[in-house]
Order: sequence, then structure tokens, then C-alpha cells
Amino acid sequence: MTLEEANLSLVRTQIADAARRVSRSPEEVTLVAVTKTIPVDRIQRVVEAGVLDLGENRVQEIMDKLPLIKGPVRWHLIGSLQTNKVKYIIDKVFLIHSLDRWPLAEEIDRRARQHGLQCRVLVQVNISGEESKHGLAPREAVEFIQQAAGLPGIKICGLMTMAPFEAEAEATRPVFRGLRQLAEEISALNIPGVSMDFLSMGMSNDYQVAVEEGATLVRVGSEIFGKRG
Ligand SMILES: *Cc1c(COP(=O)(O)O)cnc(C)c1O
Repeated sequence: MTLEEANLSLVRTQIADAARRVSRSPEEVTLVAVTKTIPVDRIQRVVEAGVLDLGENRVQEIMDKLPLIKGPVRWHLIGSLQTNKVKYIIDKVFLIHSLDRWPLAEEIDRRARQHGLQCRVLVQVNISGEESKHGLAPREAVEFIQQAAGLPGIKICGLMTMAPFEAEAEATRPVFRGLRQLAEEISALNIPGVSMDFLSMGMSNDYQVAVEEGATLVRVGSEIFGKRG
């Protein structure tokens, strides 16, 4: 067994255990392996071990790696996205997790329509209010989604957040609970074309808490690949 396989098996077990603790089915949770800075041979090993969802936070890294990774992989753009880079990835990614401002929404819409497609996006919300974090304030998010729902090139299908780093993972729980409650509120508004199917929350440090709070996508890097250099 390679290191990646051993780590993966542990992460999958932890996800399943966390799901069962709250009577969720482990199948509701998709593991997105975060491959930023990781060389393609190591990424290929996790793909071969059955991980088909890969997350990168830079457009350039997706462009470089995409032609080299073999398999039916779905690429997730999880980091902040510059408006002028949308054109490079619009038809290449499965899901953009980081929609956080109106000009970006307009550009995704414009480029998607040029390609005759609808781009799946998550709206990034800054639940913790930490200044260093990207994302809309929860109150802004509702109005933003109501507006962006009118853009035909965009399909809003959930929310994403990043919790502050905490030495005790348990301390992140209110952030994840806050995102889930916001998604429930938005869901109840029945905005045409908007679904809240995806909740992208939880990283290496805190994904088990996030799964207990309803995450459907967890973004895990260092627990699979080890600490980045
Ligand atoms: C790097 C990154 C992750 C994964 O972080 P780990 O702590 O290595 O699991 C998750 N989400 C985003 C947005 C990231 O940039």
C-alpha cells in the first residue's frame, strides 16, 4: 500500500464514522482531494484508488495538471478566482466553489453562455467574519443569490465556507452549523433555478466536525498527501 492509499483509507473511515454518528449515509459525502502543489504522479495514485474529485486553488495548476491526469476526474476550483482567468477554466471544471462577488458572477455567466453551457457554482460565505477570509457576509449572500439566480449561464447549487484554523476542531462547529442553517434558509425561499444540494465545508483539520454538521463536499489535502512543502 502506498502512503496515499493508507492515508485515504483512514480519511474515508473517519468520514463514514462521522456520518454515522449523526445518522447520515456516508455516501452523502464526497471527498475532494486537494492537490495543490502535489506532483501528478502522486495525484494519479489517489485517482487510481478511486478518488475522482480533485480540488485546486489556482487556475494555472488546473491547466497544467488536467491534461496529465488519466481517468474520469472532476476538477473543483476551490480558491479565490480572478475574473480575468475565468475564460481558461469555464468549460473544464465540474464546480467553482468560490463565487464571492458580482463582477465574477457576470464574467462566469458571460463565458458560460459563450460555450453554451451552465456553470455550476457555490457561493462562498464568510460565516466566521474573520477578515482574512474571502466570502460574502451571510446577510449579503441571500440578496446576492437572488440576483445571481437571474444569470442564465450560472447554476447556483450550494454554499462553501472556510473555518478559521482552530487547535481544537470542535471549535469550528458553529461555523459549519451556521453555513448549514443559511443553506436551509435559502432553500426555503424557493428561488427559481437555485438549489442547495452542496455544502462544501471541512478541511484536514476539521472535516469530521463538518460532516457531522451536514457537509456534502469535504476538501482534504494534507491528511491525504502529508504536509505541503
Ligand atoms: C488548501 C485548501 C484546502 C485543503 O487544506 P488541507 O488543510 O491541506 O486539507 C481546502 N480548501 C481550500 C479552499 C484550500 O485552499
